[in-house]
Amino acid sequence: MRIIGLTGGIASGKSTVARIFEQLGAVVIDADQLSREAVMPGRPAYDAIVAEFGPTVLCADGTIDRKALGCVVFADAAARSRLEKITHPAIRQLAEEKLAELREVPVPLVIYMAPLLIEAGAASRVDEIWVVFVDRETQITRLMARDGITREEALLRVGAQMPMEEKRTYGKAVIDNSGTREETELQVRRLWEREVAMEK
Ligand code: ADP
Repeated sequence: MRIIGLTGGIASGKSTVARIFEQLGAVVIDADQLSREAVMPGRPAYDAIVAEFGPTVLCADGTIDRKALGCVVFADAAARSRLEKITHPAIRQLAEEKLAELREVPVPLVIYMAPLLIEAGAASRVDEIWVVFVDRETQITRLMARDGITREEALLRVGAQMPMEEKRTYGKAVIDNSGTREETELQVRRLWEREVAMEK
């Protein structure tokens, strides 16, 4: 079973590209989704987070308040590292469970979509990295529109990440999503033809 790590900066178009792969027959595992699942009440990481950070990071309904937790670790590198020591193995565990299920059925391609694949050191767990690239100005414009934020806020979020120009160098394949949706879809289809359909 071939596992592709799909990554790229914020609002580069990872979800958009993943949806096209899904339509072509790939199974997509979304690391963001796993990170939400991993800290749900009843999961070991939930208890570990409450023990480490206290009840102030809980919502009224007892679930983890990801925003509050984000605020706690945002300005505190040591706290962030303690949180990641809990969440990263929990996410890995969930990913392994999903992959084990998928191995039971023939799947032409598994796309593991993770914004921080390279930064989180997860690159070694996929067979290959594909990067969704977007030029900086388009990235900022799309981020502002999608999240309803100001240019200043968008610049902060983009500035906190590895520059796209650097990230793209990690990609065995690069999907340039700076153009229209149609242009992106064409690139994805070509990549699928070359990398997946040809093997059959
Ligand atoms: P990511 O998952 O990397 O954060 P998204 O797939 O959500 O990025 O894309 C960011 C935003 O840009 C979304 O609102 C999406 O609909 C839009 N978008 C993505 N690709 C294109 C494109 N080629 N043309 C126009 N808008 C796009």
